Amino acid sequence: MRVSWEELYERIGACERCGLRRGCTQTVPGEGDIHARLMCIGEGPGAEEDRLGRPFVGASGQLLDKMLAAIDLHREQVYIANIVKCRPPQNRQPSPEEAEACLPYLRAQVALIRPRVILLLGATAARNTIGPEVRITRDRGRWVERKGVWMMPTYHPSALLRTPSLKRDAWTDLQAVREKLRELEQEGERIVHDEA
Ligand code: SF4
Repeated sequence: MRVSWEELYERIGACERCGLRRGCTQTVPGEGDIHARLMCIGEGPGAEEDRLGRPFVGASGQLLDKMLAAIDLHREQVYIANIVKCRPPQNRQPSPEEAEACLPYLRAQVALIRPRVILLLGATAARNTIGPEVRITRDRGRWVERKGVWMMPTYHPSALLRTPSLKRDAWTDLQAVREKLRELEQEGERIVHDEA
């Protein structure tokens, strides 16, 4: 799907490609810096996100803000989106069919932003991007590179709220993200320098 941001948001707003649209208040396309080097992808909107039309604004969102702050980033400096743009009832996981129906929008967002690093928050985000074989407890913190984009699965902030002992691993993952961003920036500077 090759579209402008305006067209993309219009299409998402009018979308009825899956049954989730009937049960939600509004679509939650995503938000942030459209030139971001880091993109964060979660599962789907929750109650607060559904009410406000913005991603990660509930308790999980507040924790995500803190996680980003831990690597010196504000939410305005990254782009935040979800696998599905409409809230699943009772915050259940989106079905594979619902995720499949919605993925073209996420792919279009990635194509427009062209981030260098994608942080995948939770199993749903990781399985629908890296592959269905991903197990979050086994694969968190491992880099996967696809077409120059570095992706890393880590725990969803809601999992960290439920199980605070996981925060230590999430912290390690975030440090690795910070390192990768630095590394890529230095690499970019070297290329610019060599070409000058
Ligand atoms: S979840 Fe995605 S595919 Fe389903 S109706 Fe909403 S925008 Fe469309």
